[in-house]
Amino acid sequence: MSRHSFTRREVLAAFLGLPAALAACRSDAVPRFPEGRIVGASDAVGHRLRDGVRIDPAIDNWQRVGVVIVGGGIAGLTAARRFLQAGFEDFVLLELEPAPGGTSRSGDDASVVPYPWGAHYLPAPMKENASLVELLDEMNVTEGRDAEGEAVIAEQFLCRDPEERVFYRGRWYEGLYLHAGESAEDAAQLQAFNREVDNWAGWRDGRGRRAFAIPLATCSDDAEVTALDRISMDEWLRARGLNSPRLRWLVDYACRDDYGLTVGQTSAWAGLFYFASRMRAPGDEAQSLITWPEGNGRIVAHLYDKARAHVRLNLAAADINPTISEGREGVDVVALESDGHSAVGFHADRVIFAAPHFLTKYLIRPYREGATPAHVAEFQYGVWMVANLFLKERPRDLGFPLAWDNVLYESQSLGYVAATHQRGLDRGSTVFTYYYPLCDNDPRTARSRLLTTDWRGWADVVLTDLARAHRDIRSLVERLDVMRWGHAMIRPRPGFIWSGARASAARPFRAIHFAHTDLSGVALFEEAFYHGTRAADEVLIAHRAR
Ligand SMILES: Cc1cc2nc3c(=O)[nH]c(=O)nc-3n(C[C@H](O)[C@H](O)[C@H](O)COP(=O)(O)OP(=O)(O)OC[C@H]3O[C@@H](n4cnc5c(N)ncnc54)[C@H](O)[C@@H]3O)c2cc1C
Repeated sequence: MSRHSFTRREVLAAFLGLPAALAACRSDAVPRFPEGRIVGASDAVGHRLRDGVRIDPAIDNWQRVGVVIVGGGIAGLTAARRFLQAGFEDFVLLELEPAPGGTSRSGDDASVVPYPWGAHYLPAPMKENASLVELLDEMNVTEGRDAEGEAVIAEQFLCRDPEERVFYRGRWYEGLYLHAGESAEDAAQLQAFNREVDNWAGWRDGRGRRAFAIPLATCSDDAEVTALDRISMDEWLRARGLNSPRLRWLVDYACRDDYGLTVGQTSAWAGLFYFASRMRAPGDEAQSLITWPEGNGRIVAHLYDKARAHVRLNLAAADINPTISEGREGVDVVALESDGHSAVGFHADRVIFAAPHFLTKYLIRPYREGATPAHVAEFQYGVWMVANLFLKERPRDLGFPLAWDNVLYESQSLGYVAATHQRGLDRGSTVFTYYYPLCDNDPRTARSRLLTTDWRGWADVVLTDLARAHRDIRSLVERLDVMRWGHAMIRPRPGFIWSGARASAARPFRAIHFAHTDLSGVALFEEAFYHGTRAADEVLIAHRAR
């Protein structure tokens, strides 16, 4: 079958819009490209698993173990941490990739700073999220408690000023909301929106629960709040007459940034959760952001360090088969080595499935053989491209100076985060991490667009996009690597979060327990941490009852 190969203009138009593509292709000159490549995630092994590749381990290649954790992202590593805290050592964690961390992975091969490949920050947890505060204590990120009992975050881990800037028509402005040129009506609508968010931040149900809290399991399930999940954030804004273009841009940006969805595709519940769950009380600022040059890769390193002896990298669970022997439940797990040709087997008492939930239909044998529960199909995932750009010097620009997060108002991308910012390095070489969510209505279309665009196509998109703000960017970037996340994050579309699918998916299936951020319906560090801890506790209780 012959494949249409796209012209440069078609690729740029598809991702940046026709005007940007036409402007970039005005001259016939071939643009300059840096070195670079497509890195991780191991698509080939993933596709083999989905195609149903089966290899039986040799008889002497089976071992007995109490628990197998499948997946070494935040959820799986957190489950391992919980086991070790409880003095339970009889487990192994299998991770398909050559490095732990999943979508919180980071890179460390640049000369100047490490840099993120996905998650890059964590809002400071409130005191009610005691187990997460305890993790930050353990990492020496906190310096005691304030008078209200809230964790005090050490200065060096709080996102350094300036946090954000936005590029609009030729220059940068401070902050994310575009105040420059705003009308009285825009300002009034921003205030009206903030009042709505304040109301939700102060709202409590009859049991004293917040409408929007982290972890999400502590949110109220009162009908007044869950009704918000039936409409989109766009419908919610329209119903309140909130049509100011810059307010709508801000909310749309928030939805794309946290969920990889546009304002029209995001559940109003999830849209409001983004704003209200991060505020302690009405009128408060949002919780401050904790970050490192490598983003949440720093937390991955901490968790991995503790669990390292139990972690097997480059080993992908391929078959998870619940068994019964002498009246006792167990699970056999077959895992493929990264060469795709040899396999290892584990006879386990229990499994914690800490990989994305959609994979259950390929990996859990009864699901694969026709008994897939209906809730599995409800788990839909967004698609992201992330690029890391290694610059020999800072680019020139106009207006407000370089911030941590640098956003282009007129782009479908989310702009970039500067990895050197948190180190206080304001001159010389740096690494920019550029984020682009593909927000097609059908994630399969997005996935196909992601994968059919090669390194050169993506590099061109990134450099052309950034050239709007930095005309000299192509002369400064020495290397540009691209990560294509085909199933980057769960999509909190209207009707998903409170549909019951998440609750069904989180219940154990025989001796298999589930942990992954997608069980919350939103992709956040705190949610992966919550589910990893919860699943480990379930297993420890079952283990003690034996
Ligand atoms: C681009 C991007 C930016 C993000 N930014 C932020 C942010 O700034 N802050 C934030 O809080 N969150 C962010 N997130 C969300 C992030 O997903 C969560 O914070 C968290 O890392 C999810 O962890 P997890 O363990 O639930 O899932 P995952 O990260 O999906 O981990 C699952 C793991 O399972 C492994 N696996 C899959 N199949 C198998 C198999 N068959 N056998 C063995 N292992 C397998 C995978 O390789 C992976 O390591 C971002 C996500 C993306 C994609």
